[in-house]
Amino acid sequence: MTEGTTLAERYAGALSAIRAATIAAGRDHDDITLVVVTKNHPASLVLELLELGARDFGENRDQEAAPKAVEVRANSVVEHRWHFVGQLQSNKVRSMLDYSSVLHSLDRQSLLTELIKQTERREQPLDVFIELNLTDDPGRGGIRPVELLPFAEQVLAARWLNLKGVMGVAGLEADPASEFERIRTASQQLQRVAPEAKWISAGMSQDFELAIAHGATHLRIGTAITGKRAY
Ligand SMILES: *Cc1c(COP(=O)(O)O)cnc(C)c1O
Repeated sequence: MTEGTTLAERYAGALSAIRAATIAAGRDHDDITLVVVTKNHPASLVLELLELGARDFGENRDQEAAPKAVEVRANSVVEHRWHFVGQLQSNKVRSMLDYSSVLHSLDRQSLLTELIKQTERREQPLDVFIELNLTDDPGRGGIRPVELLPFAEQVLAARWLNLKGVMGVAGLEADPASEFERIRTASQQLQRVAPEAKWISAGMSQDFELAIAHGATHLRIGTAITGKRAY
């Protein structure tokens, strides 16, 4: 993908690279959602992206995302969605629910417990992805593939949580193609118990074309579109 110098050029460049990779993979464009990760950038950048046609935005820190989401809502009438993609502390769940419609990073039991409690209290639905731990280190964040199905059963039993699929962050050391395949395998296992949970959140600026080739449905792209982080 060629580097554009303006936000509009980078956004258009990402869209055309996504389109080309989608066609090359023989996939349907409607099955791919671009989530523009706007962390470290101000609300003004989100407003510009709304004008360019972007509708899905990702953030990884509640302290930054909460005021940004308020500022965007106050300055635009265009419908849009916030996706929370980072590790979330349990004490930030209530705040996250104020602005997010999708959580990509359900990565542990204690977070699930708090999500069930707060969504029930508010009677508010939330779309969730289960984040996978793709490493051999059980201490790392995420649900290990062997624990996926029992964990998924608990999510499925939660009235206000809509289980949509799995999420993975491809590691820097490992071969990304084989990691994307492990995510796809986990997705297929999940779909045996949850046929609706077909989504795969995978692929970032460096590897989204490969992620599309390996079945990703939700791309989380930051710097390739937003440029270098401003703060
Ligand atoms: C920052 C971030 C991204 C986007 O990363 P880029 O390399 O800037 O595209 C995607 N997913 C998560 C969880 C992130 O924190």
